[in-house]
Amino acid sequence: MEKSEIEKHLKAGEIAWEAQQEARKLLKPNSSLFEAAEKIEEFIIKKKALPAFPVNLSLNENAAHQTPCWNDKILLRDRDLLKVDIGVHIDGRIADCAFSINHDGKWASLIEASDLALKNAALLLEKNPSLGEIGAEIQKTIEGKGFKPVQNLTGHTLEEYVQHASPSIPNTERNDSNKLEENTAFAIEPFATNGEGMVRDGADSGIFEIEEPRAVRNAHARKVLEFAAENYRTLPFAERWLAREMKLSEFELKIGLKHLLREKCIRAFPVLKERKDAMVSQAENSFIKSENKILTIIKPGKKETGTGKKTG
Ligand code: MN
Ligand code: MN
Repeated sequence: MEKSEIEKHLKAGEIAWEAQQEARKLLKPNSSLFEAAEKIEEFIIKKKALPAFPVNLSLNENAAHQTPCWNDKILLRDRDLLKVDIGVHIDGRIADCAFSINHDGKWASLIEASDLALKNAALLLEKNPSLGEIGAEIQKTIEGKGFKPVQNLTGHTLEEYVQHASPSIPNTERNDSNKLEENTAFAIEPFATNGEGMVRDGADSGIFEIEEPRAVRNAHARKVLEFAAENYRTLPFAERWLAREMKLSEFELKIGLKHLLREKCIRAFPVLKERKDAMVSQAENSFIKSENKILTIIKPGKKETGTGKKTG
C-alpha cells in the first residue's frame, strides 16, 4: 500500500470516529432509526467522504445487515440492544467500525464482552499473532465473561472498494497459523451472544451489492444498475439510497431490483439473526499492518461522549 493510500484509510477512520459520536448523540431512546441512519450518512458526505455501506442499525437478535428501509417507523427503545456499524471510504479506502448501545443497562455485560474482546485482540496484534491466535483471544475473552462468540461471523481484510476481502479473521479458535501480510488493512469485529453462537439468514435487508454487471433489457433495471455501478462500484448499497437519489417511482425501483436479482446482476443481503433469537453485541475497529507496525485506523478520541450504560 502506498503512503497516500494509508493516509486515505486514516482520514476515513477519523471521519468514522466522528460519525460514531454523531450516532451516539442521535440514537437516544425513542429516536427514529431511519432518521439516525440518514443523518449519519449525511454527516459522512458532508465531511467529503462516502459511506462504504449503508449504516447498519441491527437490533437485539439481529447481529448484522439491518438497515432502515424507506419510511421505516422503528423507534429505539430503552431495552433494545443496538449494533451501530458504520463504514466510511475515501476513494475506496475503507474504515469499518461498530459499537453497541443499550440504554436501560440490561445488556451492559454482553456489550462489555465484545468491547473487551476487541481491546484484547488489538493488544495481541502487537505480538504479530496468527489468525487462529486472534480468534482464540476473542473466544477466550468472551467466554471469560460468560457468553459465546458468534463463530460464523468474522473480521476481514479491506481492499480497495472491497469491504469483505480474504483472509477473514475468525472470532473463535482455529487451526490457522497464517498471519496477516504486510501492507494489509483489516477489520476485527467480535460478536458476543447469550445464545448459540451462530447466525442464520433472516429476511431481506434492503442492502444489495453488484455481483455481475451484465447488460439487461429491462429499462428500470438498466437505470438502477448503471446508477449503482457508477456510484457504489463493488460496495454494498441500500434500496433507501436509490429511492432518495434516483428519479424512479417506488414501483419502478422495485421492478428494477427484482429484475437485477433474477438476472444475478446484484445480490441481496439477508439480515443475519442469532440462531436462537438470542441477544448479540458487537464491537469493531479497523487497522493497518505496515512496516511491522500496527496502525489503528479508527483512533479512539480523547473522550467518548457516552450514551448507554457502559461499564469498565
Ligand atoms: Mn462493520
Ligand atoms: Mn466489518
